[in-house]
Amino acid sequence: MKITVDTILSELKKQYPKADCTLDWNTPLELLVATILAAQCTDKRVNQVGKALFAKYKTPQDFLRVSQEELEEDVRTCGSFRMKAQAIQESCQTMRDQFDGKVPQAMEKMLTLRGVGRKTAAVVLGTAFGVIEGIPIDTHNIRLLNRLGLVKTKNQDKIELQMMNDTPHKDWLMLSHLLVAHGRAVCTAHNRDCSNCPFQEDCPSSQTFGRSDKSKEGFS
Ligand code: SF4
Repeated sequence: MKITVDTILSELKKQYPKADCTLDWNTPLELLVATILAAQCTDKRVNQVGKALFAKYKTPQDFLRVSQEELEEDVRTCGSFRMKAQAIQESCQTMRDQFDGKVPQAMEKMLTLRGVGRKTAAVVLGTAFGVIEGIPIDTHNIRLLNRLGLVKTKNQDKIELQMMNDTPHKDWLMLSHLLVAHGRAVCTAHNRDCSNCPFQEDCPSSQTFGRSDKSKEGFS
């Protein structure tokens, strides 16, 4: 039987009742900065860096008061630190000049910030403001949705569009959180624990009962 979004939501909500954003934040600005830093970095590392960072910088003006080099040093361990420091400062400049020094609360405006794509915008809007304007499609979402047979593409935009059509609006953000939780705990990039997965009977990528199609999907 083909796996549906409803099945995924109901099974994973049972399995991960506390699924949520795993970045630590107290203000929308902190969440935005943390989400920018989380690109190609673990949430754990970002949360470690965030402790000192958010004690030092509390407003967009704070991030603009220092040189880019100083901010680079503060975020160095998150990787791609030059690009990320530049993105944070340019975003802060835009917020200061165009949005009254605040994180904007609409997708269209969020996308004008440097280093902010639909995934980052959807996370910040949904988590900080309860504004649901997209589904954050990250690497776990891409892998899981392909393995489960719901999509047949790795293109982030196409996947988001399809899942927005197939998923109740109220569950857009939760779907993403649940897939991240399952992608970390059971169906990882390098290991599929299919015998402990609620989808093993119907998943086209299940490795139980000798049904592996690992070579076809390209997610090893
Ligand atoms: S059955 Fe296996 S491949 Fe399919 S989602 Fe579960 S762990 Fe992943």
